[in-house]
Amino acid sequence: MTDHKTDHKTEHKITYCRICESLCGMVAEVQDGRLLSLRPDKDHPLSTGFACQKGIAFTEVVNDPDRVTTPLRRRPDGGFDEVSWQDALSDIAARLSEIHRRHGSGAIGCYFGNPAAFSYAHPLAMMLFSHGLGFGTHLYSASSQDTHSRFMASQLLYGIPSTVPIPDLNRNRLLVVMGANPLVSHGSVLTAPRIRERLQAIVRRGGRVVVIDPRRTETAAQFDWLPITPDTDALMLLSLLQVMFAEGLVDYDRISGQARGVEWLADRCAAFPPESTASATGIDPSVLRTLARDLASTPEAAVYGRIGTCAGRSGTLTSYLIDAVNLCAGNLDVPGGSVFGELGVPGERWVMRALGAVLRYDHRRHTSRIGGFGNMIRTEPATMMAAEMTTPGERQIRALIVSAGNPVLSVPNGAEIRTAIGGLELSVALDLYLTETSSACDYVLPTTTMYERDDFPLPFQTFHVTPFRQATEAVVPPRGQARAEWDIIDDLMSRMARRTPVFAALAALRAPARLLGRRLSPRPFADAVIRLSRGGDLFGLRRGGLSFAALVGGNPHGAIVADQIRTNVLNNAVTYPGGRIRLRHSEIGVEIDRLASRQDPAGFPLRLIGMRDTRSENSWMHNAPLLMRGDRGPRAVMNAADAAARGIGDGDEVAVRSPFGKIALPVSLTEDIVAGTVAIPHGWGHRGGGWQLANRVGGANVNELTSSDPGDVEAVSGMAWLTGVPIEVERT
Ligand code: SF4
Repeated sequence: MTDHKTDHKTEHKITYCRICESLCGMVAEVQDGRLLSLRPDKDHPLSTGFACQKGIAFTEVVNDPDRVTTPLRRRPDGGFDEVSWQDALSDIAARLSEIHRRHGSGAIGCYFGNPAAFSYAHPLAMMLFSHGLGFGTHLYSASSQDTHSRFMASQLLYGIPSTVPIPDLNRNRLLVVMGANPLVSHGSVLTAPRIRERLQAIVRRGGRVVVIDPRRTETAAQFDWLPITPDTDALMLLSLLQVMFAEGLVDYDRISGQARGVEWLADRCAAFPPESTASATGIDPSVLRTLARDLASTPEAAVYGRIGTCAGRSGTLTSYLIDAVNLCAGNLDVPGGSVFGELGVPGERWVMRALGAVLRYDHRRHTSRIGGFGNMIRTEPATMMAAEMTTPGERQIRALIVSAGNPVLSVPNGAEIRTAIGGLELSVALDLYLTETSSACDYVLPTTTMYERDDFPLPFQTFHVTPFRQATEAVVPPRGQARAEWDIIDDLMSRMARRTPVFAALAALRAPARLLGRRLSPRPFADAVIRLSRGGDLFGLRRGGLSFAALVGGNPHGAIVADQIRTNVLNNAVTYPGGRIRLRHSEIGVEIDRLASRQDPAGFPLRLIGMRDTRSENSWMHNAPLLMRGDRGPRAVMNAADAAARGIGDGDEVAVRSPFGKIALPVSLTEDIVAGTVAIPHGWGHRGGGWQLANRVGGANVNELTSSDPGDVEAVSGMAWLTGVPIEVERT
């Protein structure tokens, strides 16, 4: 770990950033166990000396005086008292056990936020805890605000939610980006450090990057922008497919070898020639026809969509159609196209087929009590969480555990969640801060930051554009009494060992580990994945191969395990028997029919879209002074002509109304957004928590404009409806 010592106290430790999926290499300057600074790692094979301002500013999060560093218990007056771990965990375990005894597992809910996905141990802890309590437990994640519909499309197409193709950026010659802004997000469901250079390289080798988006985003401004009306992506994709089928651009023989149901798809697209969708999408039919031909005639082409394509009213259909376009254009699973990452573990195909069958069964068998949405990777739609807490009956949530999440800000109509938490018998947050959510809970348990724990980015291994492995030890000890989430949950499970057979079995495993002076830890599991996957040492069978220890010891900057993603692997990626994609689904047919019957409420002529900003990471980095310099806080970005028609000037304070709520914030005017569209960033609305700087800026919470009604949630996947929401804007 230690690179070199500059004196007897200061060390430079090699590690990596886990704020976003880029996973850039970092060097931590540490003195006497305190993090002094972070700088980009020049020797990281992929990020090669790049880190963004959030990565650098993370020192301020680690050392933030507002961080929670001791367990806290809420007083009746709303303030908090410090308590010992022993007192906190024994009381939580006793009360949870009692609720479980009286009402069963359905009375307990668990929510984990986006940062959990960056640790190999945290999601495992949440899964073990919630499933260990019983299959009635309500498990939620931030995924129902950003990715559920993508996962659902994969479940339909490939038989498993986790098979998500990524663009082969190293070899693409035509890349179509939809609803994504990689120059700001640095990639989503896509791990590609220095993504700006990778996109520029496509142009340098004679290719093209086309960004289809209602806003000329930072990415669109650097490449070719094709404006589109919000939430009409599905219509645009149906038209692309219609052109491909009608003009004979689809190689039926070849595609039939990869997929079943091509004729059904061709039939369903026939009613959507570009001329019929142009008025809705705002895209000139001739431009769309040319794009369809280019996609079909360019051997190294891919369409890539992210949150903007997932969070509309047709998220599952849109994600399904993106893959269908790649398939029909002959670009799926080929070099330079849209490709499937894999670990390369022996027998991976059969493990994934078994997992796919289990997850499909679970989706059919287990549905949310409110709304009846099928589980997606074991989780329910978080949009229903407030109603699940407040609606009486069997499986009403009476105790909630929230880990690394702030659903009061991130879930539609989050104010309902804060109120509902107040009515629970027990609420516990595992967090770095007193946030808008954790400050409403009975207990707040302090957790480590990423630099205070060992790690391996297990969930992102198959999304690396260049197959790569990196692991790290903790670079500083936990601050105060902070503990890693795994350790907290494991302690809780051990205190509840007599409650369920799973917890009892874990207790039986813990005893011999303790005799050997060890704790129960999932690190051997992460180690086994590294050793068995591509580049691994196969437990000694491959000389010089990788393991967790070999990575942190001999390869601290990480190791590239293959120059390119393997292609022609569809038989592994698809988990249905026979290994062919399934295109024909009644859910997709219904969603296509629904496009024609959409009704928009009168009085809300504008459409809301989201946007990212380079100095925010959802809601959780607004207390770092480096990121909050200058005029911070959210602004509504509005088309100048729309503003003029309403008598609104640049910088005015405006009221934004939707059928579901109202917020006030300043407005910025621009020509670089499609008329009728307003973009507002998410993650703001800080008030009431313990993060003082974030509270001072506050800002409006855009999710107050969105709906938590089951009828307003994307029907197939349970994904929150966050983009294309009807709104009106007025000067205040
Ligand atoms: S781009 Fe992402 S991973 Fe890289 S330094 Fe910034 S936040 Fe960290």
